[in-house]
Amino acid sequence: MLGEIEITGVLYHEATHVWQWNGNGGAPGGLIEGIADYVRLKAGLGSSHWVKPGQGNRWDQVYDVTAQFLDYCNSLRNGFVAELNKKMRNGYSDHFFVDILGKTVDQLWSDYKAKFRA
Ligand SMILES: [Zn+2]
Repeated sequence: MLGEIEITGVLYHEATHVWQWNGNGGAPGGLIEGIADYVRLKAGLGSSHWVKPGQGNRWDQVYDVTAQFLDYCNSLRNGFVAELNKKMRNGYSDHFFVDILGKTVDQLWSDYKAKFRA
């Protein structure tokens, strides 16, 4: 059975899907789900069984892995996720990461992995 935090967290996730852009259908599904979980994370409603920062195999792996990565990107530039979402209104390109943060998404992912390596 789901606890109250879990239920509210799921509502935040689903509410995000209502207003977020999806690159006109071109954005990776993992990124869409990651943004929804990022919003949930920032609301303080992350789930105890989510991965810790630095875990995962790919930046767009899905849900919590991507949410933690987006949190890292947003720490480099406050407002990053909002800017990324805005750019996704009419289409999607990995180059959006370069536009906003000056680094490719692959570079950001390896910086992220290096930062949290134990
Ligand atoms: Zn979802």
